[in-house]
Amino acid sequence: MSGCRFCGKPLQHTFVDLGMSPLCESYLRADQLNQMEAFFPLWVFVCEGCFLVQLQEYVSPKEIFTEYAYFSSYSDSWLKHARDYTDKVTSRFGLNQNSHVVEIASNDGYLLQYFVEKSIPCLGVEPAANVAAVAAKKGIPTVVKFFGVATARELAAQGRQADLLLGNNVLAHVPDINDFVGGLKVLLKPSGVITMEFPHLARLMEGNQFDTIYHEHFSYLSLIATEKIFAAHGLILFDVEELASHGGSLRIYAKQAENNAMPISPRVAELRQRETAAGFTRLDHYFTFAKQVEETKRALLDFLIDAKRAGKSIAGYGAPGKGNTLLNYCGIRTDFLDYTVDRNSYKHGRFTPGTRIPIHPPERINQTRPDYVLILPWNLKKEITKQMAHIGEWGGKFVVPIPKVEVIDP
Ligand SMILES: [Zn+2]
Repeated sequence: MSGCRFCGKPLQHTFVDLGMSPLCESYLRADQLNQMEAFFPLWVFVCEGCFLVQLQEYVSPKEIFTEYAYFSSYSDSWLKHARDYTDKVTSRFGLNQNSHVVEIASNDGYLLQYFVEKSIPCLGVEPAANVAAVAAKKGIPTVVKFFGVATARELAAQGRQADLLLGNNVLAHVPDINDFVGGLKVLLKPSGVITMEFPHLARLMEGNQFDTIYHEHFSYLSLIATEKIFAAHGLILFDVEELASHGGSLRIYAKQAENNAMPISPRVAELRQRETAAGFTRLDHYFTFAKQVEETKRALLDFLIDAKRAGKSIAGYGAPGKGNTLLNYCGIRTDFLDYTVDRNSYKHGRFTPGTRIPIHPPERINQTRPDYVLILPWNLKKEITKQMAHIGEWGGKFVVPIPKVEVIDP
């Protein structure tokens, strides 16, 4: 067993153990159904030294991220989030044609496209070649690389240091968090600003959001742990926002420790104080989570078993990575869900990893008219219940599994 990925102390306290699961983005083709699948532990620890909640590196990122099925542009609400962010930071930090914006894990260019629209020079860094190719087609310069100190030094040597260095849902996804944050320090101009978004551990615990735990998601971050990690690399958090995205995220703003020009917002101390009061500096607080998770599983299975006993049909909506943690941990297969649907055509004709539920285009729901539609990407439930409101025509209802099992009339 290895030590804490930040401070190196031995990991000996379980946060939650979700059993064995396959990689959540490894959707199966029909010709793979007769083969076995690799399952890895989803066993999450909390470090007694720095309180970083973490999965060990059971699988190397090279296996996970070199061909990645997730295309950010498929969600309307995520695109709006990206556009709003772009407008906000452009005006707050006075970005213009002389600035340089770098996004780490830039995916298909879903966000940088809005900087391109404003004629602000930008660069994407993205390890998945198939996803980066989509960005390049849209005219967004993208280098295909994993980010860390080595990549940062290469880019800095080419004069590509950043005025704005951003990453959404990447900080939590890097196994070597010290190499990653060390790289941020190198690539940031002396006067530059870093923004990073990641799911907030406090929201994850409050909402029983255990389905946001998967092998690609190595760290589960509080503000307190994040501040320690950034400080160890000469970076200071000067602002923080709490966002609704991904079940509740933090957007942190960081600067070089040497940069005194930027004032520190009172929001940082206020959130640090709230986390301390809630128990994030005490181990016993972390131990409450596993019990909530087990109860969520029992409640969802109770609902599904009752529905099937009453002769109802159930389909899924969405085949997101988080859905696969939920399905595998709860043991939900085609005995409960006839199929699921997704807007991402990459997934059509494929099967969910581990549970092997077929994935169809959304139109399938209109053809089979299920009694219940289980929404797997519950963070998008507003958007989905609106898009799919027509299931009410045949008396269909939505089921949201998390934070608690809830049946919604269209
Ligand atoms: Zn630690």
